[in-house]
Amino acid sequence: MSKVTLEQIVSLCKRRGFVFQASEIYGGLAGFWDYGPLGVELANKIKAEWWKSVVTDKDNIYGIDGAIIQNPKLWEASGHVTGFTDPLVDCTNCGARHRADHLVDSDSTDLTELKKLLEGKTCPTCGKMTLTEPRTYNMMMKTWVGPIEDDSSVSYLRPETAGSIFINYENVRETMRAKLPFGIAQVGKAFRNEISPRDFIFRVRELEQMEMQYFINPDDQDKTYQDWREFAWKFLIERIGIKEDSLVWNEHAEDERAHYASKAHDIYFKYPFGAKELWGTHNRTDFDLSNHSKASKKDLSYFDEQSKSRFTPFVIESSVGLGRMFLAVLADAYNEEEVNGETRVVLKLKPELAPYRFAISPLLKNKPELVSKAREVQAELKKVYGNVIWDDNGNIGKRYRRQDEIGTPYCVTVDFQTLDDDTVTIRDRDTTEQKRVKISQLGDI
Ligand code: ATP
Repeated sequence: MSKVTLEQIVSLCKRRGFVFQASEIYGGLAGFWDYGPLGVELANKIKAEWWKSVVTDKDNIYGIDGAIIQNPKLWEASGHVTGFTDPLVDCTNCGARHRADHLVDSDSTDLTELKKLLEGKTCPTCGKMTLTEPRTYNMMMKTWVGPIEDDSSVSYLRPETAGSIFINYENVRETMRAKLPFGIAQVGKAFRNEISPRDFIFRVRELEQMEMQYFINPDDQDKTYQDWREFAWKFLIERIGIKEDSLVWNEHAEDERAHYASKAHDIYFKYPFGAKELWGTHNRTDFDLSNHSKASKKDLSYFDEQSKSRFTPFVIESSVGLGRMFLAVLADAYNEEEVNGETRVVLKLKPELAPYRFAISPLLKNKPELVSKAREVQAELKKVYGNVIWDDNGNIGKRYRRQDEIGTPYCVTVDFQTLDDDTVTIRDRDTTEQKRVKISQLGDI
C-alpha cells in the first residue's frame, strides 16, 4: 500500500490547482473532474512522453485522432452495445445502486457466482439486507445525433478509443503503405456510465485513454504480447519515474476478461486504496477486424507477401488511462519530510514531468533592478524549458515550500551579486542544497 492517503492527494490537488470537482459550484457531478492549471501541465507532459515513446520513437506506429461519436454500427459490431456491461445490484430500501463485484471484492463478472458471494450482504448505503440479485448493466453513454430523438438517431459516446482505430485500419495501412507488423495509436476521451464512480480520478465516467493497437501476423502473437507487456512496465519506471516496488502484475482469469480478449495482463499500481488496474495489455485476436469486416462487408484481410498467404491480422492492444497514470504519478511522488524542524510536502516528480521545471524569484520584489534581471533569466529559461514560474510572494523559505509541494525541481534566486557577476542561487528540490552558478550554466544543471 502507498504511504500517502487519498485525502492528502485530493487536498493537494484542490489546494494547488491540479484537479477540481467538475461543476463544483453546482454541487459537482459524480464521475467528472476538471484539470486545473497545474494538472493540465502534468497531464500534457505524461501524454507527450507516451506519444514520443509509442509513436515518434518508432517507425511503424502511426497516430490518429478519431471522432468521439461514430456510426453506432461500430459499437454493435464490436460487441459493446450488448456486451459492455458490469454487474449491478439495487437496494430496494434506499434505491442505491452498487457494482456487485466491488461489494464482494471479486474480479468475477459471472452472475451465478456473484449471487452466491452476495448472500447475507447488506447495502453499504443504508445497512439493510435489501439488495436485489445481480444483473448486468450496460455502460455505454447514449446520445442522439441530429434534431430528432428517436431510435434511428441513437448513437454513443465512445467507451474506448480503440473503436476508431479498428475502423481506420485500412485507411492507415493504405495511406502509410504500412506492412505488418504496424500499430495505430490514439490519445483521447472515452465515456463509461460507471455504476459507482469513486476513488477520486481513478474510476470516472469521462476518462482519457492512451491506446495503441498493434496489427500482426497471428504467428507472432505470443512474442508481441510479451514485448508490449515489457514496454508498459519499462515505460512506467523509466519514462514516468514510478518506483518498481509500486507496481505488480495481474493476469486476468477467463471469467474476468473483456469480451474481446483471449489473454489480458494488467499492471496494477499500489494506490492508497489498494493495488488496482492501471495499464492493460490484451490479445484481442482477430475479434475486432473480423467483426467489422463481417458487419461492414469490407474485406479487412491482409495478404502477406512473404508467406503468400491471406489472413485477418491479430491485434495486441496496449491501453492505459491517463487519469489513473496521473494519480499513480502523484501518489508515488508524494512525500512528507522534516526539514529544519518543519514538515514539508514535496512531490518528487521526474523533472521532465513537473508542471514547472524552474521557479524564478528576485530576492526582493521591491527592487526594480532585481526584478528586471530575474525577468530576463525567466525569459531565457522559458525559451528552452517552456513553463518557468515566477514566484515573488513571501520570503524565500515560503517560496521553496510552495514549489516543493508542486514538484518544481529547481528554484532560482536573483540577488544583488547577480547584478555584478551573472551568478544566481539554484536550490535543488530533493536535496534542498543550494549552489551558486553562472546563469549560462543553469541549463546544464
Ligand atoms: P476496470 O476493470 O478498472 O473497470 P477495465 O478493465 O474495464 O478497467 P479497460 O477497458 O481495459 O479497463 O480500459 C483500459 C484502461 O482505461 C484501464 O487500464 C484504465 O487505466 C482506464 N480506465 C478504464 N475504465 C476507467 C474508468 N472508469 N475511469 C478511469 N480510467 C479507466
